[in-house]
Amino acid sequence: MKIVVFTGAGISAESGIQTFRGNNGLWEGYDIDEVATPEAWHKNPELVQKFYNMRRKAVLEATPNPAHQLLANLEKEYNLHIITQNVDDLHERAGSKKVLHLHGEITKARSSIDDSLIYDIKGWELKLTDTCSLGSRLRPHIVWFGEQVPMLNEAAKLANEADIFVVIGSSLQVYPAAGLVHEIKSTCQLVVIDPEIPTLRSRNRTKFIQNKATEGLPIFIEWLKNNVV
Ligand code: NAD
Repeated sequence: MKIVVFTGAGISAESGIQTFRGNNGLWEGYDIDEVATPEAWHKNPELVQKFYNMRRKAVLEATPNPAHQLLANLEKEYNLHIITQNVDDLHERAGSKKVLHLHGEITKARSSIDDSLIYDIKGWELKLTDTCSLGSRLRPHIVWFGEQVPMLNEAAKLANEADIFVVIGSSLQVYPAAGLVHEIKSTCQLVVIDPEIPTLRSRNRTKFIQNKATEGLPIFIEWLKNNVV
């Protein structure tokens, strides 16, 4: 039996990292077009760098919450994979090993001319003068709005193999990631944990747990232990 957990910004909210929706279209006070697109990087790399440096600092100061930890514990008992839209490393710091990052990782930088050159960032700051081994400027290792999602096929394959697919803390509004819900088999048990249940094409077998991640996951785990061998 394979469990695939699809996490969004909501799972890190209780670690103090802001979600994306519900702020008048702004993200940490910024218009996403100004800070999270390839156009923004060309137009104003200073601002983009400043935005991601600020967010990286917040991520480094945050710690995994009990929801991240419960998932890491479940991985020891079940065949469980995480697909995350989050760019933070809180799943890894909680101990999860099988984590696929759909939208990149904020703790890393990559070459702006060769996508295979990826580097760990030491500390919170990436500078505009930092370069890759080929001498070109390093950019945040983030999938910006309007860019291809390189890990999408791998994520879709995982979703399709799932017997249980659990969505935690995602508004399911950011595509193509949100489309993964439609990749699951008709026999797959879909579970949604979110204080505000996102709109979903109706399905017979959906279990809704309308709670925060730290409260909803224990409910899911109890259901799992009672209903699934
Ligand atoms: P979103 O901000 O669009 O939606 C967040 C969802 O989380 C909402 O449905 C909300 O009701 C729910 N939520 C809020 N508090 C919660 C809690 N305590 N427990 C469970 N759910 C809670 O997030 P998204 O769907 O992930 O899409 C946003 C995009 O922005 C993603 O592409 C992601 O890469 C990026 N993002 C990442 C981070 C991060 O790395 N932590 C943070 C913000 C945004």
